[in-house]
Amino acid sequence: MSTLFVSDLHLDAAYPAAIAQFEQLLQGAARAADALYILGDLFEDWVGDDDDDPARTRICTALREFADAGTACFVMHGNRDFLLGAGFAERTHCVLLGDPVVMELYGERVLLTHGDALCTADLPYQRLRSVVRTPRWQQRFLRLSLATRRTLAAAARAGSREHTGSAAAYIMDADESAVRATMLACNVQTLIHGHTHRPAVHDFALQGQPARRIVLGAWYEQGSLLRRDERGYDLQVLARGGPE
Ligand code: MN
Repeated sequence: MSTLFVSDLHLDAAYPAAIAQFEQLLQGAARAADALYILGDLFEDWVGDDDDDPARTRICTALREFADAGTACFVMHGNRDFLLGAGFAERTHCVLLGDPVVMELYGERVLLTHGDALCTADLPYQRLRSVVRTPRWQQRFLRLSLATRRTLAAAARAGSREHTGSAAAYIMDADESAVRATMLACNVQTLIHGHTHRPAVHDFALQGQPARRIVLGAWYEQGSLLRRDERGYDLQVLARGGPE
């Protein structure tokens, strides 16, 4: 019995090796798990549930086959794929999660979040986030043609690359005080997130009690998987063999 977590796969036709590796996980090791949690940025971008991009369609089919085979699959929005909606859930038989969400695992409360909301020092990004997460903005965006949405998403990716390339490293990381405040507010000693692409297990004290923040890695060069079973947490690197 185990529960698996992944994040920041950024799946896109431009990274065929990551797609193949994720499909391998879904068709293999993950089938033995009780549940798989995808904590955001499953896709490099998601411009709407009507997206008929072949690579995304292939991933949706793999997810549906996986969920239908009996492992519960939960998907949280990331900053790239925050437009995943009811149509995606229908296509994949996955369950969309709110962000943040508290789950109970082995008798312990565990907080799951994508992680972008913790990067509070990145003010320009937080301003952008507060706009694009409103129903009004999303309704207007989704009314545009698929071609226009793809063009805008590509421009947003380029803007994001420029921003992350020029901002100081600490600005792109989770803010420690935001982490503590969020964990205290949610009454948890364990937090699992992705987004920063800095896989690590951080042990620290929260109100005098042992606490931990587990950060999942991105899937650009290799896979990153967190496994929780009765023995505890195991943050794994999934090496990628063979040519792309
Ligand atoms: Mn992200």
